[in-house]
Amino acid sequence: MLDIAGLRAETPGCENQVFLDSAGSSLPPRIVVDTTVAHLRREAEIGGYRAANERIDDLHGVKAAIAELINADPAALALSDSASRSWSDFFYSVPLAPGDRILISGSDYGSNAIAALQRARQTGAVVEAIPSDSSGQLDLDALDAMIDGRVKLVSLVHVPTNGGLVNPVAEATRIAHRVGALVLLDACQSAGQLPLDVAELEVDALSATGRKWLRGPRGTGFLYVRPELALSLEPGRLDLQSAEWTAPDDYVLAPDASRFEFWECSVANRLGLGAAVRYLLDLGPARVYAAIAERAEYVRKALAEIPGVTVRDRGTQHAGIVSFTVDRLEPIQVRDRLAGEDITVTVSHRGSTLLDMSARELNSVVRAAPHCFVSFEDLDRFVGAVRSLT
Ligand SMILES: *Cc1c(COP(=O)(O)O)cnc(C)c1O
Repeated sequence: MLDIAGLRAETPGCENQVFLDSAGSSLPPRIVVDTTVAHLRREAEIGGYRAANERIDDLHGVKAAIAELINADPAALALSDSASRSWSDFFYSVPLAPGDRILISGSDYGSNAIAALQRARQTGAVVEAIPSDSSGQLDLDALDAMIDGRVKLVSLVHVPTNGGLVNPVAEATRIAHRVGALVLLDACQSAGQLPLDVAELEVDALSATGRKWLRGPRGTGFLYVRPELALSLEPGRLDLQSAEWTAPDDYVLAPDASRFEFWECSVANRLGLGAAVRYLLDLGPARVYAAIAERAEYVRKALAEIPGVTVRDRGTQHAGIVSFTVDRLEPIQVRDRLAGEDITVTVSHRGSTLLDMSARELNSVVRAAPHCFVSFEDLDRFVGAVRSLT
């Protein structure tokens, strides 16, 4: 069992509010803030290069911690400043030709879809959406029927940004691999709240952000690329970290996924991300994931019983995001009224998941995402506050 009182004491931000936005930007534990701020102070004392040298082991430890969390080799990881950066670093390195097909998920994220559309315009490839089944999840039969040798890349979203469903990633990946298509998994909403094992899922690449369920600092993210694949891809932009200048007219790409990394970064943020992942590993990821699922299910059930409230989550397997609407109130009104009672939720807008929201004729939904540090008293207060809005 997790020591919830201890977790709360280590999370100063949860003292004076009910915090339900770990799908947006979570509250970091004290160790993450302390690690980050201490490094900024150290840089001011002795300069950024010496400060980084002092923490060289911890800097290597960042990838080691992420690798442990997702069951990968540290050399298969590239750190970045966001999930979208990591996603596009990979995506833009995949060669495409006229007539090639890019498949995106029915609840794919806006940034991914925009990048896919841009590359389709540039290369003559086409973008097609994999339909969702009647439960709202990725339709495996439809994918099976769509797939052919012209499909070069399949973009899967593990948990969409606008609701708590979990897509069948391993099954979809198997179908895509039958024709040799690459699978790029957007794990932004699953990293830190669901088991993530790249060896088991067999995806070719995966992107995630630091600030959401992992509780790291803003401005952090990472990319995983299957090791043999990384060696066959050339990123669209290089610097002297991603490649080595070996002769006046030649360079050699880095021999692993660090070819997707630039040299400069926020060392403080990176150390903070390492501290966040280490904190999760020390708590025991399985226990954290169970606590999140239990809280989300509790909220989902309680909201569903309130007349005038509609839970908008779809799918058969559920994750830590609870999406809902309240009759006669816009989602932003719900968010703002709850904020007035020190309850933090966010709104997910149509443009973030255009295909899914349009199909359901929704402009926006309220999103409540409880992490393990949220108490059941907090959840009851939230449910009571929503009830009094109706
Ligand atoms: C938040 C989110 C992203 C983007 O993450 P950034 O770190 O802001 O780039 C991508 N996909 C999903 C599903 C998300 O929820």
